[in-house]
Amino acid sequence: MSDGLSHNMTALETEGARALPAAKDVAQRFEVQPHPAPASEEAWAKAMDDLSFGAAYSDHMARAIWTRGQGWHSKQVVPFGPLTLSPAAAVLHYGQEIFEGMKAYRHDDGSIWTFRPGYNAARFNASARRMCMPQMEVDDFVGAISALVTEDAKWVPTPFGSSLYLRPVMFASEAFLGVHAAAEYTFLTIATPVGLYFKDGLSPVSIWVSDGFHRAGPGGTGAAKTGGNYAGALLPQEEAADAGFDQVCFLDARENQYLEELGGMNVFVVRSDGSVRTPSLTGTILEGSTRSAIIRLLRDRGTPVFEERIRLADLVEDIKRGEVIEMFACGTAAVVTPIGRLASKDFDLEIPGSALTLSIYNQLVGIQNGHEPDPYHWLYRLV
Ligand SMILES: *Cc1c(COP(=O)(O)O)cnc(C)c1O
Repeated sequence: MSDGLSHNMTALETEGARALPAAKDVAQRFEVQPHPAPASEEAWAKAMDDLSFGAAYSDHMARAIWTRGQGWHSKQVVPFGPLTLSPAAAVLHYGQEIFEGMKAYRHDDGSIWTFRPGYNAARFNASARRMCMPQMEVDDFVGAISALVTEDAKWVPTPFGSSLYLRPVMFASEAFLGVHAAAEYTFLTIATPVGLYFKDGLSPVSIWVSDGFHRAGPGGTGAAKTGGNYAGALLPQEEAADAGFDQVCFLDARENQYLEELGGMNVFVVRSDGSVRTPSLTGTILEGSTRSAIIRLLRDRGTPVFEERIRLADLVEDIKRGEVIEMFACGTAAVVTPIGRLASKDFDLEIPGSALTLSIYNQLVGIQNGHEPDPYHWLYRLV
């Protein structure tokens, strides 16, 4: 029986904790082609003023190509702009695609940092293995981020809580309609300045528990960060939105009883005895970096965290009895979001508390922005 406090690192956590070379050394792997006509001062100022998610992109993007027999080549930072892609490119037909989500944070002294890039690199490769795509050297992955953020440093916003959101992506770019793993892949990283993900700050979200739709199934691709998982979650998300809810939560596909996660965020449950629960990694859940960091920080505070299967029926009873006092969702984009209402066709419950949610949010954002100690060396200096 776990005491909720001892911590066995997962494969991703172990791989992700390996020391990385300095950013300026790995950035050299990418040759820079400066944008001949970067954003005007006005366009840039407007973008830095309107920090809504994905409203504007920085001047450049990192790019690399993988060709069978040759491996990764053509590593460059190039002007951000439309791609040239054959209409027969395999990704458009069979969806062979993976991505990551990361952020670059500007600290008070002007330096720019990112959070656990080795973890994202390891997860990118884990997703690539599942989707039958080539591996990328961690130094290339981190090199792409470093080279792009160095070139576009002025796009990293200053206000506390803001950041430059980084989106690495890889897709099958070979023009071939046969069904097999492609012989050519394109890697890109694009960047968009963002403020707080939920504009109302930490105001609680409402969650609809999906009835009949599942995000992932046993043996499927739920543990890989791949676009298809998101495509399949859009219809249930729309239905939840039509019913007046902010987000949808999925149950396991085998028994339709156990809490899994939201479309793009992991979930936690806080009990009145001070302990915390989160769904265990069963292979159908995405192993979030934020989830991993929160488990670590809570255990380090002496808060027991149990990774286990959480039966929805038990959770509902525990909320009614006041034994579950908080729930929250977490992920890189939104960081931490309190769940204030949980509903399905059978119940509709308010969840009142948010004290622990707020304190873990503050600690995590504090670490990322250099205001709190970083005992696990999660921060990596980019510029
Ligand atoms: C990316 C993602 C998360 C959150 O992962 P982080 O590493 O914390 O950003 C959770 N669930 C799904 C399905 C995701 O794609």
